[in-house]
Amino acid sequence: MNEKVLKRVKNYIAYAFCAAFVFVVLVLFFKVVDVKDFVVQVENKTYDLRQLVVSKYRKPSSDIVILSIDDASYEYVISRYGAWPAPRDFWANIAQGIEQVHPKAIVFDLLFVQNFKAFGNTDKMLADVIKSNDNIYVAMNFDNQTPEVREPIQLPPALKTEITGDRRFIEDVAKKYTNVRGIVPEILYGTDKIGFINMTRDKDGVARGLYPIFTYAGGESSYKDGSFVGDFYKHLDLLVGMELLGLKSSRVRAEGKNIILNNDIKIPMTDEGQCYLNWYKTNEKDEEFEAWDWASVWETDKAIKENNLEFLKNEFENKIVLVGATATSLNDIKTVPIRYQYPGVLTHATFINNILDNNFVKKTGAIFDIAVTTILVLITGIILFKCKRVHLAMFGVFLLVTFYSILTLFLMLRYNIWASLVLPVAASIATLTITYVLKYIITSRDYEHTYKLAVTDGLTDLFNHRYFQEQMKINIENSKRYSAPFSLIMIDIDFFKKFNDTFGHQSGDAVLRQVAKTIKKNIRTTDVPCRYGGEEMSVILTNTKKEEAALVAQKICEAVRHKEFELANGSWTHVTISLGVATMPENGSDVQQLIEYADKCLYIAKENGRNQVVFDADKKPENN
Ligand code: GH3
Ligand code: MG
Ligand code: MG
Repeated sequence: MNEKVLKRVKNYIAYAFCAAFVFVVLVLFFKVVDVKDFVVQVENKTYDLRQLVVSKYRKPSSDIVILSIDDASYEYVISRYGAWPAPRDFWANIAQGIEQVHPKAIVFDLLFVQNFKAFGNTDKMLADVIKSNDNIYVAMNFDNQTPEVREPIQLPPALKTEITGDRRFIEDVAKKYTNVRGIVPEILYGTDKIGFINMTRDKDGVARGLYPIFTYAGGESSYKDGSFVGDFYKHLDLLVGMELLGLKSSRVRAEGKNIILNNDIKIPMTDEGQCYLNWYKTNEKDEEFEAWDWASVWETDKAIKENNLEFLKNEFENKIVLVGATATSLNDIKTVPIRYQYPGVLTHATFINNILDNNFVKKTGAIFDIAVTTILVLITGIILFKCKRVHLAMFGVFLLVTFYSILTLFLMLRYNIWASLVLPVAASIATLTITYVLKYIITSRDYEHTYKLAVTDGLTDLFNHRYFQEQMKINIENSKRYSAPFSLIMIDIDFFKKFNDTFGHQSGDAVLRQVAKTIKKNIRTTDVPCRYGGEEMSVILTNTKKEEAALVAQKICEAVRHKEFELANGSWTHVTISLGVATMPENGSDVQQLIEYADKCLYIAKENGRNQVVFDADKKPENN
């Protein structure tokens, strides 16, 4: 096989091995790192950042007031009742007191669980207040406690929600629970204004949204024939939001990934069935979360006891009152996109406010994401095409990515749209990087190729005359600086004119090539074989003394002598060469002198019968 072809095949095999190796590494990488999950996590972080900015421009409704169990209120209860939680008549009193000024709703983000230490009939007192007012809402919490620890209870049928419309998605994604923490029976069976306040966090511990609908099997086995069976129940905030909108809350209409409240209000769910919330401005430094209207439980209790109707009217008339803990000691604190520590009650305020304002965040779907990614990659391509300079192109792509980021921010602010950021931006940057890596590889290969063309001789593949001159100068400098010897062999083919005349120039060229190859085979990689001109060739032997150079010359001479050369017509013949050797420093100290000396030796070799090496111009060579 032709040696060039062989080299190319070897190269391809090496490339194939490299590609296979990279492929295996990538596969292993993707096996270890869940890329999709990683992208989702980073995208979630961009959601947090966007919310942080956008929330500064959103004001919550002034219809909502937080009745806060703050640190002072907690101390207030402890100092009066000696313990937390407060006896239920405390809350009965508060609810009754606020009802005097006609609030829109009172929502308790508190679990009135059964308590064996209940004081007298205080549970019943609270239940009576709840029963006699149709705008008081209370909370329950599902869990998956094992039945051996706590027997699951049957929930009153009035709490069930009927899902109408296209319910496949919600059946799939509604959070499933197998147990529930019971609340005071007088309340549980006394009102149907009970919602569920289960909260879920994303993988990174941040609560970005809420599940609007839960399923619970209630007492019976939750699984039948391997699949979960249960009834639907609403989140407390969905219940409150629907009732405040004047909607019948026993039914929820679903359509695809949306819950349809009425013609205007749709609640979009994520693929996991959560509603991602649009958060409202809070002041990082201000412990009071100034965006919301506030009243503290202890001041309210005091006002009620003093019959201060002015205070009550001011704070609660026509308001949606959300009662919940903000005291750090009560531990109802979550991490949300806009704040590291955020009271749970504000999450409910946000959900209710989102429903009333109809401003849920809607995430873009796969088609939008792919389209935007394609557009960004195309624009990146145009930038790369137009900007030939690397830093200009990088700046262009930077501008593009920045512009798109700002656009996504605007979309969230103005239209509540969560447009994917990570995928399009990553694709754009990857396009930039890959293009430049490829460009670099191609130009460097181009450069290598051009350089090789510039220094080699086309016929023999030896270095050309120019390169020979350069290398001679370098070797002379080197030799001077380090006082090291180096040698030069000049080679001339014997009777080559006659050879050409006999066999033709085609065969002459073939022989030239084969002689060149023979020379290459008989020298070291550090030696530099050149075509000096015509049928004369030369070898520069770096760091080589005369005797060593003479041995190399002898070896080449013999190799050519014994080789059979193939001619253009396919027949074979022999040729011989004559060689002269010069060494620095003894035979000269510049290019001219060294070449002259080697030529002189070569001339002697020719005179003396050719087919031999001469390395001493003053000594008559032995015939061989
Ligand atoms: P000698 O060196 O033994 O004294 O005899 P010679 O016939 O080889 O003499 P000389 O070195 O002067 O001859 C040079 C010849 O080499 C002239 C030319 O025909 C031939 N030649 C030079 N370059 C090429 C080439 O590129 N291809 C071919 N085919 N022949 C070349
Ligand atoms: Mg010649
Ligand atoms: Mg010759």
